[in-house]
Amino acid sequence: MSRLVAEKLALVTGAGSGIGREVCRVLAREGANVIAADQNIKTVQETVATLEGAEHIALNINVGDRNSVETAFKDVVKQFSKPPTIIVNSAGVARANFLTKLSDSDFDDVINVNLKGTFLIMQIAVKAMIEANTTKDSSIINISSIIGTRGNIGQSNYSASKAGVIAMTKSASLEFGQFGIRVNTVLPGFIETPMTAIVPDKVKEMFMKRIPLQRFGKPQEIAEVIVFLASNRSSYINGTSIEITGGLN
Ligand code: NAP
Repeated sequence: MSRLVAEKLALVTGAGSGIGREVCRVLAREGANVIAADQNIKTVQETVATLEGAEHIALNINVGDRNSVETAFKDVVKQFSKPPTIIVNSAGVARANFLTKLSDSDFDDVINVNLKGTFLIMQIAVKAMIEANTTKDSSIINISSIIGTRGNIGQSNYSASKAGVIAMTKSASLEFGQFGIRVNTVLPGFIETPMTAIVPDKVKEMFMKRIPLQRFGKPQEIAEVIVFLASNRSSYINGTSIEITGGLN
């Protein structure tokens, strides 16, 4: 059977950890060349060292900083002579606190990485694709969260950023469809990664009671859906949000 994304060039942010790292692994397994991007160059180099195939690179990027994103894309286009046509926005941060105790910097940091970072990557990636005439069959997958639709105690900043990602994805799909670029978002539930490792046991128990499958998700269970969305197998799925939560209610 042919591989899902054979010979495509993919860029994944947040690729040094958790879901982003796993997305790189599944993309490489399915035949893509992967640009693994993260603010932490050491962890992202570790990601690249484990990938199947040869043409993968580690890239230093701060998704919340326009200069950093523009420079990174320029370097990539120079190196591969084309921009990536699969984009996965997995870089994200959570700074939990009750709303009455939340500092300006914890609010701003979360919005800057999760929401503005997704905006900057989409804008600069799509401009590069249009310039290189490679928009056809391109696919952007943004990672939101089920918290973006339900809210969560201690996560007013995070839930707002993730609700923003859902709305921005819909708007982007309305603008990019004419070029043949699809844009979708996935809404993971509780997934076992370094981000959730610090969640207190009491909170984990509370979540577990709400999951019909009675277990937390694994990064691979998110990555497999993302790679399906990246591939032409999902060629008529556009502007939508897919919950991957084990049925969390
Ligand atoms: P993770 O293990 O913490 O990985 C996130 C990665 O993003 C880290 O390598 C982090 O680097 C990097 N990053 C943070 N800020 C960045 C920036 N400004 N520029 C570039 N890279 C940056 O988290 P995860 O659980 O894999 O989460 C991945 C995505 O899924 C996030 O958007 C998260 O909100 C979303 N999500 C996760 C869950 C879950 O249950 N795990 C559920 C719903 C949604 P540092 O380690 O240096 O910060």
